[in-house]
Amino acid sequence: MKIIKLPDSLINQIAAGEVIERPAFVIKELIENSIDANSTEIYIHIKNGGRSSIIVSDNGNGIEKNDLKLSVQRHATSKLKDEDLYNIKYLGFRGEALPSIAAVSNLLIESKEKSNSESWIINVDNNEEKEYSPSSRANGTKVSVIDLFKRVPARLKFLKSNKGENLHSQQIIRRLALCNPRIRFKLKIDNKDIFDLDNKAHDENELLSRISKILGQDFVKNSIEFNKKYFYNKDPVTIQGFISLPSFTRGNQIRQYIFVNGRPIQDRGLSSIIRMSYKDTLARGRHPLYCIFLSVPNHFLDINVHPTKLEVRFQDYNFIKSIIISSINNALILKNSIPIDLGLGDLKQSNNFPLKYQERALDSQIILNGLKNYNSIKYTPETQKLGEEIRSTDENHQPLGQAVYQFKKNYILSISSSGLIIIDQHAAHERLLLEKFKKKFENNYVENQLLLIPIVIDLEEDQLDSFKTNIKIFKKLGFDIEEFGKSSIIVRSIPSLLFNFNIEEIIKDLCDDINTKGFPSDYQERVNLIIGNICCHKAIRSGRVLTIEEMNSLLREMEVTPNSGQCNHGRPTSITLNIKQIEKLFQRT
Ligand code: ADP
Ligand code: MG
Repeated sequence: MKIIKLPDSLINQIAAGEVIERPAFVIKELIENSIDANSTEIYIHIKNGGRSSIIVSDNGNGIEKNDLKLSVQRHATSKLKDEDLYNIKYLGFRGEALPSIAAVSNLLIESKEKSNSESWIINVDNNEEKEYSPSSRANGTKVSVIDLFKRVPARLKFLKSNKGENLHSQQIIRRLALCNPRIRFKLKIDNKDIFDLDNKAHDENELLSRISKILGQDFVKNSIEFNKKYFYNKDPVTIQGFISLPSFTRGNQIRQYIFVNGRPIQDRGLSSIIRMSYKDTLARGRHPLYCIFLSVPNHFLDINVHPTKLEVRFQDYNFIKSIIISSINNALILKNSIPIDLGLGDLKQSNNFPLKYQERALDSQIILNGLKNYNSIKYTPETQKLGEEIRSTDENHQPLGQAVYQFKKNYILSISSSGLIIIDQHAAHERLLLEKFKKKFENNYVENQLLLIPIVIDLEEDQLDSFKTNIKIFKKLGFDIEEFGKSSIIVRSIPSLLFNFNIEEIIKDLCDDINTKGFPSDYQERVNLIIGNICCHKAIRSGRVLTIEEMNSLLREMEVTPNSGQCNHGRPTSITLNIKQIEKLFQRT
């Protein structure tokens, strides 16, 4: 067989296969070009899932008449001047997007270069130049991609429904909009306005306002901001952004954004490291939301791994992983017991009440009075004493305050000078037990208790299966347990923590839970799951009456226990109503 050099038209088609798998990638390339051209406004209009047309227009620097012809040539770029692939300041540099798009669509580029008076248009239809003439564009560039993949039916066949393709495209636009908060992004789909992310106010905190538009106000209210600087051989590496609280999660991973040096990236390894950084504060099947910006020296990063540039390679991947773990852990620990947003901001202000007592300061003494002795609002020596205790509580760093009452046998009401706190006793106790158990497990010191009469438990087939796969963990946890006959197991000793508990129920529930929700492959996550399940059984169930002393000792223990802000299932263990929120409830603001 004779070797021949492939014609350009074919090369472009092959490249198109890599760079532009689907309409979303066309959009990505076009928007990146607009960003590289210093645009401050980018409009996108998608029709028929991107199949009929994709139009991206901008107000950027524009393309000069002669360059217009070059722009659709392969490997022609204005961006790689100093021939250094490791020092790239632009999003593009491979010079293959426009020629690839021109190979599989009818492409029109209309542009006016800033310092030029005339604008020109070029039309390349599936590799063939059809038109090159003056036009009437006032500024910037408009790129229209018509009938994408029409002549590549194989590719067309793999596209999803319009809805599916639009979702992809929107996700890509959101990503680019998040890391370019100064640029206005306007999206239309099939003539309908989808969003207009502008920056009219020239917001001081433009990033935050963009994040709240894309990830929602609720995310901003329920997230932790962090900003850390590290050094890698004297080079600064920073990681900053917003991560959601463990109690604010989603069932999917759509709202997770990672950027490196201003580029959106996709990296499964980093995503799973981020999830693991939350440790066991997340419920199974739930995912945190985040928007994380990494900034590394250019030479630390190889962007030229894949034509779509969504994958990157770091000089030291483990270093990046470890700074992610450490910064997220720190941020979460600092917010161990966070007041949950009650959405009071959305309460409707009712018409002006004559607020008789407005002048009276609502300090903790009065709240205390009202709670302790709601018949009279008089200072008594008793409340005076409690007030002092609360003040000293704060001095002693007891952020969860002093317990004053148990409500409905499950909620501890507590007061600190910063607010009223409600604690879910079952959730809180569950977490305390889990942390204790974990510590013992990590130190290989789980006490066990021999049962005088071994327990035989009959299991269903699938329960038995999940038991068998985890028998080692059970043993390590302090169970002396093994298979017994065809469909039973025998328990001879149990972890001391579980003494007096219904072992049969615990084991059956655990096996069922594993079967219905699936089982993590990571060993540590598995251990956490099993311990968490056991602790949930053992924890003080709702409905147990506690004395004030018992309540206080629970609070003190929570204050020194890691992760005590959430129960094992990611629910909050306590919420705080601060004075502002209370005043809002009483319409005093
Ligand atoms: P790359 O972006 O890798 O350089 P492209 O094929 O995407 O390659 O674009 C080729 C060239 O066309 C760019 O280098 C740039 O000079 C020019 N170009 C493309 N789109 C625009 C735009 N919206 N505004 C200004 N110039 C553009
Ligand atoms: Mg480009």
